[in-house]
Amino acid sequence: MKRDTECILCRISNGEEPSQRILESKNYLAVYNDFTRYDYDVIILPKEHINQIKNISNISNYFMFILGVLVVLLDIINYDSVKIEFKNRKEYDNIITHTYCHIIPNH
Ligand SMILES: [Zn+2]
Repeated sequence: MKRDTECILCRISNGEEPSQRILESKNYLAVYNDFTRYDYDVIILPKEHINQIKNISNISNYFMFILGVLVVLLDIINYDSVKIEFKNRKEYDNIITHTYCHIIPNH
């Protein structure tokens, strides 16, 4: 599995950085975003260091995992709606080069 030792998301998925894990599978991980102003802000990442969503193999498995996270969040906070973003390498002010899905529930 490809990793980048400088990448914060690789370090989180490898347990080298603390995180509050919500759901985990062999290839994907969902954690609370500790660097946010929103409650229950969630990041869902492939465990492998992949810089763009188009490079994720078997993308439907990733989307199914994301749906599973949305179900778990419903049990936790009973949200009314969610904002979902897919982030790729160095967009806007994003310095993270590891692609991820960002979920912000409204509740
Ligand atoms: Zn990474």
